[in-house]
Amino acid sequence: MRMSSTLIFTLFAFSLFASFAAGWWVDEYKSGILWPEPKVLDSGPPGGPPADAIVLFDGKSLDGWEGGDKWKVEGGVATSVGGGITSKQKFGDCQLHVEFATPEKVEGSGQGRGNSGVYLMGQYELQILDSHGNPTYFDGQCGSIYKQQPPMVNVSRKPGEWQTYDIVFTAPRLNDDGSLKTPGYITALHNGVLIHNHFELQGTTSYTEPPKYHKHADKESLHIQFHGNPVKFRNIWLRENIEPLVGKKP
Ligand code: MG
Repeated sequence: MRMSSTLIFTLFAFSLFASFAAGWWVDEYKSGILWPEPKVLDSGPPGGPPADAIVLFDGKSLDGWEGGDKWKVEGGVATSVGGGITSKQKFGDCQLHVEFATPEKVEGSGQGRGNSGVYLMGQYELQILDSHGNPTYFDGQCGSIYKQQPPMVNVSRKPGEWQTYDIVFTAPRLNDDGSLKTPGYITALHNGVLIHNHFELQGTTSYTEPPKYHKHADKESLHIQFHGNPVKFRNIWLRENIEPLVGKKP
């Protein structure tokens, strides 16, 4: 038996009415917390820097870095030569963006090929290495937290191609006697892909010693390593004040 079009329309209208009616009787959950309004922020061009970032390399100068005068700055790019660079300003918790390219001309192998590194607080290294078809120990390849944790995946691009690190860092908190209050944490994306998710740092990332926390200040300099290879950098910026918004209970 075929239903008449009037009956079909009536059933449709009734079900539509029933869904609206159900919506009216549902109570919305409200936390009651009085949230401050999130600040409106210009995120900048793709790759940043956002409007509230501290720009550490804008393509023109490494004036904000000790040792920056030794590096070559040309065409918007800084190339590592003759020593590492250490930021004059000191940082704790932060969001950090770094763009890098390992040498196009492949020389050396393993740890000797395109080696550099981003040292948070001058002592916690997120390794930079040419890991495109360049075997080495896994907790020392590109994206590793050196000697502590390999990256989840190897997303290294070819030598000479630009790559990105986006790092969210929670600084460790240390007591006055140097003992650990709370560990450091690193979340990192390499070329937009997650490689560390809230990794708990075990201490410094030394080549010669097991990880161990050493007393340091709440804020320390950022360091970029020179390991004998001309690694290129551009667009380095950092954001502080990354704690969550806090609301008030009524
Ligand atoms: Mg290194």
